[in-house]
Amino acid sequence: MNAIVLHGCDLADGQGKALRHGVDIVVDGDAVREIVPSRAVATYGPANEIVDASGMLVLPGLINNHTHGTAYGPLFPSGHEALRREQVLANLDRHLLEGTTTVLCVDGFVTAEALARTDEAHPVNVILASCNTPACLEAATVADGSGLTEASRAFTARRAVDAGAVALGEIGAGHTLGGGGASYMYIPAEIERRTGIGVTPRQADALKVAVLGRRISASSFDPDAVEEALAAAGLAGKLSVPDTRELVSHIVLPAFDIALRGLAEAAGQARQAGIPVLVHNAAASMTQVAAIAKTDVALIAGHSNHSSFEPREALEHAERLKELGAIVDVSTLDTFGAQRLTRGPELLYAMFSAGVVDTISTDYAGGHHDPILLAIDRATKAGVVGLPAAVAMATANVADAIPGIAPRRGRVVPGALADLVMTDPAALHQVGAVMISGKIVVRDGRRVTA
Ligand SMILES: [Zn+2]
Repeated sequence: MNAIVLHGCDLADGQGKALRHGVDIVVDGDAVREIVPSRAVATYGPANEIVDASGMLVLPGLINNHTHGTAYGPLFPSGHEALRREQVLANLDRHLLEGTTTVLCVDGFVTAEALARTDEAHPVNVILASCNTPACLEAATVADGSGLTEASRAFTARRAVDAGAVALGEIGAGHTLGGGGASYMYIPAEIERRTGIGVTPRQADALKVAVLGRRISASSFDPDAVEEALAAAGLAGKLSVPDTRELVSHIVLPAFDIALRGLAEAAGQARQAGIPVLVHNAAASMTQVAAIAKTDVALIAGHSNHSSFEPREALEHAERLKELGAIVDVSTLDTFGAQRLTRGPELLYAMFSAGVVDTISTDYAGGHHDPILLAIDRATKAGVVGLPAAVAMATANVADAIPGIAPRRGRVVPGALADLVMTDPAALHQVGAVMISGKIVVRDGRRVTA
């Protein structure tokens, strides 16, 4: 019988165990048959494909629990206009080339039918989540809603769960809760419309914080800070302080309270359905997130290293959430590359060092998210987390936290589906090959086209 043998590799099995060195991973059909100390190639016979993996590290395909723009349908839980299909496929390609074989799309208004079409069009396993509860739908409609069709509105969370959604999420996403989406998308667009001037996400964020504070409250308005932020953004004389207050408030506040209400509502529905609720965890939502953590729903606190937190606040909040049994997720965001909103890895590293991280995802960061393996590469080199533990955070831990997301995936053990990543141990983000369900879909760092 024809097997594929990854020959002579090192293995991080996803379960957090010490690396195994010099093994052969024998893949038969869609599954891992056995993992054995490396044998001479000749013992396998000519019918089998031998992949020379010497000097390479093999990991389980990564399971990314927080992605946007990875399925056909409204973008973000604000129901924004859908991306073009080519862009969705390009986003999936990027995840795949970064070693991710399963993504949870947390845009939240994608229908099962559109999800199935996406999944069929691309080798990455695309999994459904829903944010379509009454309050979240209302928040989306108020905040944006430009991409919400009749079908996506009618596809409620309850229907999504019946159709296989494995979690409710993202609940209270930045685009409805004055988070990153407001700063990199809605506020710059409106400023440009009114003044013709383009501002960066960071400049827009500074204006937002000056008007509404980190926790988003009308009472935080600080006219001096607004003046300063306007000057820094090159908007002095183009936009007045009162106009800025009106502009930012008008974008952020109408959906805000509704979205906050949506958190408890979605948690209740998730508990009833027996699936996890994945929430936008940021300075503006932390009180509601902590309240949910006290209930008995399975809670995933998304991107707990969000840039709206003060570092100490983020750590204490994450520790508290963990004590209450929540899963603490961190996202790579744009920490290492674009740094349009995230200034650097300090908070991410502090959270690894404190031992509070359960899972690692990417989030979207306006399309500028960094690869999970880049974050693991840098964090392990910085000595803030061990490699086996970090790999588990992107594989088995995710599979365990969201039971439906990747059954038989996330661990390289006999009998598991063969989703495997072969990469350079010295530069983990330099992915060489990727296999999904026993099929090689990336070779030499490139998509294999059938
Ligand atoms: Zn979010």
